[in-house]
Amino acid sequence: MIPVKGYAAQSPTTDLALWDFERREVGPHDVQFDIQFCGVCHSDLHQIKNDWFPGIFPMVPGHEIVGRVVKVGSAVTKFKVGDLAGTGCMVDSCRVCENCKQDLEQYCLNGSSQTYNGFEQDHKTPTYGGYSNSIVVNEDFTLHISEKLDLAATAPLLCAGITTYSPLRHWKVGKGHKLAVLGLGGLGHMAVKFGVAFGADVTVLSTSPSKEADAKKLGAHHFVVTSDPEQIKAAKGTFDFILDTVSAEHDFNMYLSLLRTNGTMICVGVPSKPAEVAAFSLLGGRKSLAGSGIGGIAETQEMLDFCAEHNIVSDIEMIDIKDISTAYERMLKGDVRYRFVIDIATL
Ligand SMILES: [Zn+2]
Ligand SMILES: [Zn+2]
Repeated sequence: MIPVKGYAAQSPTTDLALWDFERREVGPHDVQFDIQFCGVCHSDLHQIKNDWFPGIFPMVPGHEIVGRVVKVGSAVTKFKVGDLAGTGCMVDSCRVCENCKQDLEQYCLNGSSQTYNGFEQDHKTPTYGGYSNSIVVNEDFTLHISEKLDLAATAPLLCAGITTYSPLRHWKVGKGHKLAVLGLGGLGHMAVKFGVAFGADVTVLSTSPSKEADAKKLGAHHFVVTSDPEQIKAAKGTFDFILDTVSAEHDFNMYLSLLRTNGTMICVGVPSKPAEVAAFSLLGGRKSLAGSGIGGIAETQEMLDFCAEHNIVSDIEMIDIKDISTAYERMLKGDVRYRFVIDIATL
């Protein structure tokens, strides 16, 4: 076994703290890479607090992981020692179900292996995430990372990036579409960058007027303050798509009213409590309410390559791992522009 140092929550009520654990030896199809940076996702906090479902403890969060390969298995063909490598929200899947066969491993019918707070495909070995100094991943679930981009700012692409890229691609959002991005956080700021890169007319919907200047700097064409009834009234029936990145509770019916006829609102944020949706909000104007979860491995690589080509990375604030609890507190208040990334050298 490989000894690894990490930061773990021992229970939903304890703060993260140093924890020594072990990873499996590098198997024939495995890649081991030493982690340099790991993004801090809102879902890390949801999971260590048991907000969505009872977690597996000790829990080492982190699924926006980048670093450099230090060892490859004998059968590995896609990576060599010294390459940059990354891993997002999944480390394996069944490979044989109809979704896996269509490159939709994130919807694996037998359950994909989440990078942490999950199990390997033996359904009994717990997985541990990227708040740690090294990781062993099957090469099929390891991503190539470009040397051209700032490495730390690339880390959040592996969750926040693909979570917003995939639905925009699936619904073919682009030229001629009015896209509203609801919420300007880790996900939202990536959605703005992708929406603009794909040629859509992009509006940011936010409760904070203070974010207008930033939204425009990120490339957004318009900004609507959602707490201002006049601005909401003017925005009614105007959007082809709303990408809803908010993971706090909010009024779906109000946002559905901003869609044009045949418009689609796509949820990628995950509030802790279910939302109430009135049938009238959908049937008046034949509207759709949809959801999307991360992206498959092939699409994640496509997204990373697109970002390298178009020079797209996340806007980040680097932190020492000892400051993770403060970072969570600030994240809850929306006080981060726009993603915390842990410098794993501080572990
Ligand atoms: Zn995430
Ligand atoms: Zn599968």
